[in-house]
Amino acid sequence: MIIPMIVSSDKTQLTHFRNKQAYPVYLTIGNIPKDTRRKPSRHAQLLVAYLPTTKLGGISNKSAWHRALANLFHACMGNILDPITLHGETGLLMMSGNRVWRRCHPIFAVFIGDYPEQMLVTCTYNGRCPKCSVSPDELGKLQSFPLHTQSSAIAAYCLADNDNHCAFHLACHQAGLKPIFQPFWEAHPFSDIFNSVTPDILHQLLQGMIKHLIKWLIKIYGSAAIDSCCKAMPPNHKIMLFTKGIATLSQVSGQEHKWMCAVLLGLIIDLPLPGALNSSRLIKAVHMLLNFLYLAQLTSHTNETLHRLQDSLAAFHDNKAIFIDLGVRENFNIPKLHSLSHYESSIQQFGTMDNYNTEQSECLHIDMAKDAYHATNHKDEYSQITIWVEHREKVERHAAFVNWRQQGNQHDLLSQTPLRPPCVPAQTLKMPRNPSVKAETIHDIIGMYGTVDFADVLGDFIAGVLNDSLPGHVTQYCGENIYIPFS
Ligand SMILES: [Zn+2]
Repeated sequence: MIIPMIVSSDKTQLTHFRNKQAYPVYLTIGNIPKDTRRKPSRHAQLLVAYLPTTKLGGISNKSAWHRALANLFHACMGNILDPITLHGETGLLMMSGNRVWRRCHPIFAVFIGDYPEQMLVTCTYNGRCPKCSVSPDELGKLQSFPLHTQSSAIAAYCLADNDNHCAFHLACHQAGLKPIFQPFWEAHPFSDIFNSVTPDILHQLLQGMIKHLIKWLIKIYGSAAIDSCCKAMPPNHKIMLFTKGIATLSQVSGQEHKWMCAVLLGLIIDLPLPGALNSSRLIKAVHMLLNFLYLAQLTSHTNETLHRLQDSLAAFHDNKAIFIDLGVRENFNIPKLHSLSHYESSIQQFGTMDNYNTEQSECLHIDMAKDAYHATNHKDEYSQITIWVEHREKVERHAAFVNWRQQGNQHDLLSQTPLRPPCVPAQTLKMPRNPSVKAETIHDIIGMYGTVDFADVLGDFIAGVLNDSLPGHVTQYCGENIYIPFS
C-alpha cells in the first residue's frame, strides 16, 4: 500500500508579505483514488513548514542570485521531506482506519503550485512545460511530446558531484534543465517530480486561459459593446450581474472569472464581428474552452467525460485561428494553453481535479499565513506566526472538546473503551443440572419439543456406547438397526 503525500506550496498568494520572509508548505496525506468515477475522499491537510523567501541581498549577479534561491528552496524541501526518504524505500508500519497494521511507503506524490513554482520545483526554464519536452514555439500545438523522466534528469544531476562543471552544465542544458545542486527529489527514487506536477484550474484556466479569452473578446468587440451587453443582461438564478460591465475591472479574482464564464457566451452570441465576418468560429472557440473548463471541474469522471474533455480542447484548437485572423493574437505559444493537454492523463492518474486544485488550499493561506501575519507586529514575524497558529489550533481543539461535552458526552468520557472489530459471541450451551421433567414418553418428546429425530439419535447414541471403537458413520449405520424396546 502506498500513501501518497501531496506537498503543495503557493508563494504568490502571500503578496501581502511585504518583506516575503516565509511561505507555507502544506502536506496532504490521503489515498488518491485509482478510479476516477469514484468521488474522491477529502484529504487531511497539515501545515508542515514555512519556507524562507529571503532576498539574498548580498548576491549582485542576477543569474547567480536566481540559482542561489533555487538551491536554497531545494535544500529546504530536502530537509522537510527527509523523514520520508528512507521510509519511502523500506516501508513503515502504519495502522489504517480499521485498526489493521499495514506496511506503507510514503512517497512524494503530487506537487500543487502555480507556474513559477512548477518551474522551480522541476528545475525547468521559464516558458517551457514542466512535464514534457515541448519547445517554446510549439506550445500552441495540440499534440503529445516526449515526457521528462526523473531517471534521465538524475543522470544529468549526478554529474554535479564531479569536478568537471562544464560537463554538468552541458548535460543539464541538453536535458532542458537548470543546473541545480541536488534537487530534493533526487533522494526519492519512487517519486517522479515531472509526473507529480498536477494541473491547476485556478491559475491555468480561470486566471489563465479564461482571463486571456475575456481580454481577447473585449479587444475584438470593444469595451463599450461588451459592457452594454453586461448591463442589458436580465437577472437570473445563479448568475452574477456585472451592472458596470467587465471591461474596466482590474484584479479580477478566480471566483469573479467563474461568474463571468456563466454569462460570457450570452454576451457575445449576437454581437456582430468587425468586417461582417462570420462569428461561428469565434463562438465555437469560446464555447469549447468553457466546455473544457466545466468538464475539468467535474467531481467524478467516466471515459465519456474524459473523451468530451479532450474533444472540447481539440475543437478549441481547430477554431482558435479566428483570434489570429481578427488580429488579437500572433500565435498561441502560451504555456497555460499547452498545460491543458496534460489534464486528461493527470485525471486518470491522480483522480478528479478537486483533489489538487490550488483554489482549495487558498483558504488555508488566509487562515495560516495571511491572518497569522496580520496578527504579528510585522517584525521577526516567523516565531510570532507559528505561536499564533499553535494557539489557534489549541483553542479550536478545546472548543471542539467543550462542544462535545455539552452534547451530553461527559458520562462516556471515563467509560470509553477502545473500539474493537465486531466479534461473534462464543457459542455455549447452558443446561440445567437437574431435568425440569422427571419422565416423558418418546412420543411426547417428539410431539411437544419438536425433536423429530429423537428416536434415531438415541439409537445412534446407544450404538456409539456399545461400539465406542467404531467411527461415527459406522455407528450411525448400526444405530439404524437398534431396536428400542420401550416408548
Ligand atoms: Zn507538456
